[in-house]
Amino acid sequence: NLKIGVLALQGAVSEHIRSLERAGAESCAVKTVGQLEGLDGLVIPGGESTVIGKLMRKYGFIERIREFSAAGRPIFGTCAGLIVLATSIEGQEEPHLGLMNMTVARNAFGRQRESFETDLPIEGIDEPVRAVFIRAPLIREIGADVEVLAVYNGEMVTAREGHLLVSSFHPELTDDYRLHAYFADMVRQSRTGEPKG
Ligand code: GLN
Repeated sequence: NLKIGVLALQGAVSEHIRSLERAGAESCAVKTVGQLEGLDGLVIPGGESTVIGKLMRKYGFIERIREFSAAGRPIFGTCAGLIVLATSIEGQEEPHLGLMNMTVARNAFGRQRESFETDLPIEGIDEPVRAVFIRAPLIREIGADVEVLAVYNGEMVTAREGHLLVSSFHPELTDDYRLHAYFADMVRQSRTGEPKG
């Protein structure tokens, strides 16, 4: 069985768990580093990246999630989770996890468009996905190995680098769980890629 945890320090957790379960995975909230044990994949939810980053440092998640990633286990960052995964954040000295090779801008849509919804075509998913953007970040620059999966108004809003997946929007706030299913497939593939012991 596929087990995908949702980091539960702050932000939208139960909605992710529901979507992951609909996508056929087993899911649980992750509040301590010990709960990373035995997980095949991890979701870092939206919320406030400064708060999530601070709590990750406080509870020892930074090193442990870096190890989780180094072991090839997939991570999906949504909204604030995208910011937390980036190697570089505009206007900020230090990244949080610094795992995915990209520069991101926080709250990049400005005041008039603090939150909105749109039907977003995503590479690898047949029909557009209903995307809810809330004080969303944008991906400004990407490294050579990052593949852009969705663009909104010419700006990068969904991307993948190997076992890392990110979206600017909140895929967990609608009934459409196809991006979670896409991630669950990534997790499934990463497991079959494991050396047999
Ligand atoms: N604006 C938030 C931040 O900068 C992200 C918003 C969200 O996760 N919905 O962290």
